[in-house]
Amino acid sequence: MNQFRFSRRPDIGDKVRVSFEFFPPKTDEMEARLWETVKRLEPLKPNFVSVTYGAGGSTRERTARTVRRILNETSIPAAAHLTCVGATREEVDAVIRDYFATGIKRFVALRGDPASGVGQAYTPHPGGYQNGAELVAGLKTIADFDISVAAYPEKHPESPDFATDIEMLKRKVDNGAKRAITQFFFDNDLYERYVERVRRAGIYIPIVPGIQPVHNFRQVANFASRAGAHVPAWLAERFEGLDNDPQTHMLVASAVAAEQVLDLVERGVGDFHFYTMNRADLVFAICHMIGIRAQQTAPEVPESQPKAGSAAA
Ligand code: FAD
Repeated sequence: MNQFRFSRRPDIGDKVRVSFEFFPPKTDEMEARLWETVKRLEPLKPNFVSVTYGAGGSTRERTARTVRRILNETSIPAAAHLTCVGATREEVDAVIRDYFATGIKRFVALRGDPASGVGQAYTPHPGGYQNGAELVAGLKTIADFDISVAAYPEKHPESPDFATDIEMLKRKVDNGAKRAITQFFFDNDLYERYVERVRRAGIYIPIVPGIQPVHNFRQVANFASRAGAHVPAWLAERFEGLDNDPQTHMLVASAVAAEQVLDLVERGVGDFHFYTMNRADLVFAICHMIGIRAQQTAPEVPESQPKAGSAAA
């Protein structure tokens, strides 16, 4: 029976699409590392990559520079994340126009978290876009951008219930969002139930699961608790005792992410967005497991030289 599993089909790699998320580097050293990561992942031919926007626009210049560099030096479509925290509409529109003028046509449009930190009460700027849906509408009045938005399989911590949460997603879609990328999650049943709710609400855009490879369990668990993402007990148990054993931690992280992604493939999911943390190792391995192979253009071999793999040696 096992050979009939969908995730084991030899052509599975042709049916799955991936995208990668990076954060803008702060130092030259981090930039060099990010660039190694981009170069390693580029041959996997992602659908697109995206670059985050620091809280309150704190990375505005670095985000823009990173997106432009990816556009100029690779063949990957690149999206800029954009938030509307603490800024007037005019200020946000000026940022959008700057991006547009330099060829950036894809955005991940977000409200953003309160300047005081994730989980604190959010107060929109009185003269600004009030939420993600208004930002999507603002972007669309400037140009016909390709826009992704955020979605929350466990609902956003500020949403009183799923109905309110999905109503906000619907407003983003009605205003022009083309796909939603989810907050990370570790329980695929939660994702599946959420997608069912979304479809029942008449929303038909792709709800792309955001996959968080666990490079550092403590960091991920800490962020998850603030972002309202549940960390199951079984996951904590898998990483138990591995704080000082990076090699085993990495192997376990790879197995955990592969298990999650392959199960989603079995459930019919065809698009994945990876939170890379600017590292290629785990993401590259997981992509390999779902049949995605580096596509290199073979260099031209002069006629007089034997071709690789020929018996001429
Ligand atoms: P919205 O869609 O505007 O609102 C989120 C939810 O809050 C809604 O579902 C709604 O139910 C509820 N809500 C909002 N307003 C109200 C209200 N007035 N009353 C009741 N409920 C309300 N943050 C960054 O700073 N930079 C990034 O680059 C970034 N990238 C991200 C990428 C992804 C894929 C995801 C999932 C999140 C990202 N975030 C980023 C985090 C995001 O900014 C936060 O989750 C933020 O709190 C909500 O943004 P949003 O666009 O989902 O907000």
